[in-house]
Amino acid sequence: MDLDIDTVRVARTRADCVLRPGEAFLGGGTYLYSEPVPPGVTGLVDLTGMGWEPWSVDGAGLRVAGTCTLEELVSGPGSLGADTGGPYRALGLVAPCVSALTLSAKVARMATIGGNLALGLPAGSMVGLFAALSARAIVWTPDGGSRELAVSDLVTGVGVVDLAPGEVLREVRVPARMLGQRAVFRRASLTPAGRTAAMVTGRTGDRAPRIIVTASVTTPHGLYVRDHDMLDRWIDWIGREGAWYEDTHGSREWRAAMTRRLAHEAFDELSGA
Ligand SMILES: Cc1cc2nc3c(=O)[nH]c(=O)nc-3n(C[C@H](O)[C@H](O)[C@H](O)COP(=O)(O)OP(=O)(O)OC[C@H]3O[C@@H](n4cnc5c(N)ncnc54)[C@H](O)[C@@H]3O)c2cc1C
Repeated sequence: MDLDIDTVRVARTRADCVLRPGEAFLGGGTYLYSEPVPPGVTGLVDLTGMGWEPWSVDGAGLRVAGTCTLEELVSGPGSLGADTGGPYRALGLVAPCVSALTLSAKVARMATIGGNLALGLPAGSMVGLFAALSARAIVWTPDGGSRELAVSDLVTGVGVVDLAPGEVLREVRVPARMLGQRAVFRRASLTPAGRTAAMVTGRTGDRAPRIIVTASVTTPHGLYVRDHDMLDRWIDWIGREGAWYEDTHGSREWRAAMTRRLAHEAFDELSGA
């Protein structure tokens, strides 16, 4: 840990969330405290002091606060999804998506949803989880307002997100009608406990299964899929677009092949084949 910073402020009110020059937000700190301090950052503003309810569910759907930890997500919404025939069965996606991060229990106790989404890493599996559930991200803007965008649109490049300086990822909302849908999860990595290199999530959808591809691509890709031909054409198009991601956890070619296989499996499962 190389914590060469001058200040840490604990945010208790919305006014505290207005960043001063050199400040950045702190969630659970599992990334920030494991990397060199980002250039120009001299202070941190700890959002966990805001005391937001980690998650809640009502007739409108599920809300998950930016400061909800991965552990809280699994023990709360994740446990609602354990009933595979129940009204929250889509939340069966929570546990495998959190496991896809291959974090230790210690890290999962601290790491937050907001931190995972804000990092915008290809292997940031909270994107694949919430994009599959057609969730919206609620973002607090520094002028005291807020804006909303689809989680699937949040990540715009490798480690690049649609969050302006000073914007807070306040919460993620999953519409109620998504919660009862059947969901699917597939993942591939080079070794059993390795970094997720391809992840396919999805849900049954209203008219056609919705498939989301993350981890093997530089930005999340999603499609309502009618048949296997359409799926193949889409996977080919992702390649032509130059969107396959490559690092030490897998080559472009291998990720593309794994994604194709997992996406077909996911489509079969969702369409009951
Ligand atoms: C062993 C290990 C394995 C890991 N594996 C993975 C992995 O497979 N995939 C992956 O994606 N990550 C991985 N990480 C990185 C990281 O732990 C997770 O992404 C985690 O979810 C980050 O959450 P955090 O709350 O700790 O973020 P922090 O470290 O607190 O912050 C991360 C970034 O998000 C910003 N931020 C935090 N909260 C908000 C908010 N609410 N609004 C706006 N900005 C915010 C911070 O300013 C910072 O830029 C791993 C880390 C470790 C230590």
